[in-house]
Amino acid sequence: MKLTCLGSGSAGNCYLLHNETECLVIEAGIPFKEVKKALDFNISKITGVVVSHEHGDHAKYLHEYIKGGIPIMAPSMERVTGALSAVSKPFSVRTFPLVHDVPCTGFLIEHSEIGRLLFATDTEYVRYRFKNLNHILIECNYSQDLLSKSYHDGLQERIKLTHMEFGTCKDFIQANKSQELKSVCLLHLSDRTSDEKIFQEEIQDLIECPVYVANRGLEYEL
Ligand SMILES: [Zn+2]
Repeated sequence: MKLTCLGSGSAGNCYLLHNETECLVIEAGIPFKEVKKALDFNISKITGVVVSHEHGDHAKYLHEYIKGGIPIMAPSMERVTGALSAVSKPFSVRTFPLVHDVPCTGFLIEHSEIGRLLFATDTEYVRYRFKNLNHILIECNYSQDLLSKSYHDGLQERIKLTHMEFGTCKDFIQANKSQELKSVCLLHLSDRTSDEKIFQEEIQDLIECPVYVANRGLEYEL
C-alpha cells in the first residue's frame, strides 16, 4: 500500500492510502477531481474519507464526497455533515481528540497490509501515547525560533495554541517510537516558519526508519 500526498499545509490537505483495489482518503482540502486523477479515475475503490476538522484547508471539498456517496468519518463536524457514515473495512479507523481552536480529531488507522498508522495534524500537542505504531503522520508546523522572527505576538500566541511546534513533534516521536516503526511523515510545515531540511535531519537522528516531508506529490510505499 502507498501513501500519496496531494497537499499538506494551509493551501489544502489531502492524503491517499491506496493499493490496487482500496483507497482511504485522509482530509478533503483539495478538489475531488485531483483525487480522481491521482487514482486514474478508479474512484470505486475509495472506501471512505476521514476529515480531522472543519477548517477549509481540511474540509473545503467534503460536499463533493457527500455528493458522490462516499462514506465519511468526520466526528468533529457532525453539526456540519449531519449523520456520520462509517468508513468501511478493510480499514479500521479509531479517533482521538486533538488540541486546536475548533474541535479536531486524530485517527489511528489499521489495515492488514500496513499495520497501525497514526495521523494527527492541527494540534498543539497529542496528549496520548500509542504502542506499536508502524507509521506516523504528524504535524511539524513551525519552529519557535522562526515563529518569533516572523510574526507579531498576538499571531504567535494563536499559532502556538493551535499548531505543533518542532520540539513538541520531536518529543512525540521519541515517546511513541518502537521497533515496529517503519516510516514517519512530517505534515503541514508552515511556509514562513519551518525549515524542512533541519526538521527532517533532526527527526531522522531520533529514529532508524525513513523520515519524509509531506510535499505535494510525495509518494512512498508503506
Ligand atoms: Zn485548522
